[in-house]
Amino acid sequence: MENLSLRIPKILKSLRQEKGWSLDRASQETGVSKAMLGQIERSESSPTIATLWKIASGFNVSFSFFIQDLNQNQSMHRIGNPEQLHPKDDKIFVMPIFPYDEKFRFEVFVIELLPGCEHFSPAHQKGVVEHIIVASGELEVFVRGAWHSVKEGEGLGFEADQSHGYRNLSKQKAVFHDIIHY
Ligand code: MN
Repeated sequence: MENLSLRIPKILKSLRQEKGWSLDRASQETGVSKAMLGQIERSESSPTIATLWKIASGFNVSFSFFIQDLNQNQSMHRIGNPEQLHPKDDKIFVMPIFPYDEKFRFEVFVIELLPGCEHFSPAHQKGVVEHIIVASGELEVFVRGAWHSVKEGEGLGFEADQSHGYRNLSKQKAVFHDIIHY
């Protein structure tokens, strides 16, 4: 796979061209400043997870759209050691296990939250649903104005077309799978 830091600027530029959006328009749609978008496109700045999620939502593409491997065209996916996205965020690690699937319209991530992490995700497009399954540890998920505790082995599904968040108040790392349906 091509390096992430090369792929993200390329994909952002091509998305913007495809839509015919100026930096101004892209900034309005994503809630990310024009200056930041320009810096990302010129590879002067790497987006954080939160910024990348805003960009994906604004352009109405899946999160893993940015990490897609354009050369991959297999009928079977087997993923062992997923690439971490994005190393700049020190308390949240997002690793795509199954990148966005065109046919079934879902993507699956492994997400690790270190103790003390609190991460808010912008609203996704209408109809987007997330299912979270906790693999180890314990976390809280913010949905419809309240935090909900989800423990190891438990799951939580929710409509993600509104602001939502994940946090780890425990002293141990929390690991969960996040299945996102579009
Ligand atoms: Mn989300």
